[in-house]
Amino acid sequence: MSKDRNIETSAITAGRPEVSPDASLNPGVELTSTFHSGGPIGYGRYGNQTWNALEAAISELEGGQTLAFSSGMAAISAVFSILPVGAPVVASNQGYSGVMTLLNSFHESGRLEVRFVDVVNTDEVIGAMKGAALIWLESPTNPCLDIADLPALISAAKKLGIGVGVDNTFATPLVQNPLAMGADIVMHSVTKFLSGHSDVLMGSLSTNDPALFKRLHESRSFNGSIPGPFEAWLALRGIRTFPLRFNKAQENAKYLVEKLSGHAKVSRVRYPGFGAVISFEVAGTAEETQKVCDSSHLIAHATSLGGVESLWERRRRWPMESATVPEQLIRLSVGCEHVDDIWSDIESALSAI
Ligand SMILES: *Cc1c(COP(=O)(O)O)cnc(C)c1O
Repeated sequence: MSKDRNIETSAITAGRPEVSPDASLNPGVELTSTFHSGGPIGYGRYGNQTWNALEAAISELEGGQTLAFSSGMAAISAVFSILPVGAPVVASNQGYSGVMTLLNSFHESGRLEVRFVDVVNTDEVIGAMKGAALIWLESPTNPCLDIADLPALISAAKKLGIGVGVDNTFATPLVQNPLAMGADIVMHSVTKFLSGHSDVLMGSLSTNDPALFKRLHESRSFNGSIPGPFEAWLALRGIRTFPLRFNKAQENAKYLVEKLSGHAKVSRVRYPGFGAVISFEVAGTAEETQKVCDSSHLIAHATSLGGVESLWERRRRWPMESATVPEQLIRLSVGCEHVDDIWSDIESALSAI
């Protein structure tokens, strides 16, 4: 294993069994709930060889040591679970709706004191840091694709001794490496780009801090938020092609941003300049926007993102989505289909209104 390999190579070589005659090229799916006594694992809630293989692969991409969880939300919940009751947390006032729902409920119940900030405003975020235990950052944000100045925020937090966690689901390690910038934890919804085939839910946390790793491992073991071995195997299989898929989808996205920006029925296109998610606003009502989503034939009208299949949806169809997200906003997860086919589907769907 070499950390100085390029990501495109590591994604293919990482997490393989040791080489010996007739050893398998790929890890197996270790389907067992228990182990013969005398070893370091002991029971299936504490460890599994298939998880180890996946975790080794994510560690090569993101750095640090990794823990796989049953979903992205399980991974995020593990981070919040190790904070003391009432701990002050700085977090974005808009972001992935599941995280916003969780943080709002923690804040209302007093489990955490959440200071919601506009992550684009670096001074405001730094101003809210005093006495905080953790700053939780998502950049780009889901679904508005706002960018936080991660290097500035991480260095300000570290000077104040505040823990930093970054949700790197949208940017992926091909675009940014939060641990290398000094973050304590990098999180993924492995469900999305890393797995990439819309067939598995999983999450991960990676950290360079052995004491923090131990606490997060205990949280996973005793909250029981563990992935299934088969899902871990599928996720690792997905990682083999993650750079290929991401680069192709990103190339498609850049082309579609140009096309969408010139379309009369599109009033605004949000795209951070990288990645494979585009959020655009339809020049029309919420109902018309809904009709556009219902009128595609290639692009699936479905939530989620990061798969080989293009998907889109009007985010505000979810009652839990933040009111700061425009009613006419469509989040498009660009897949790996031929870009001409994606564009002609978008054009035809837009012509339905
Ligand atoms: C999907 C998503 C999550 C939640 O992950 P699940 O695997 O669905 O639990 C968290 N953060 C971001 C940015 C996401 O897109």
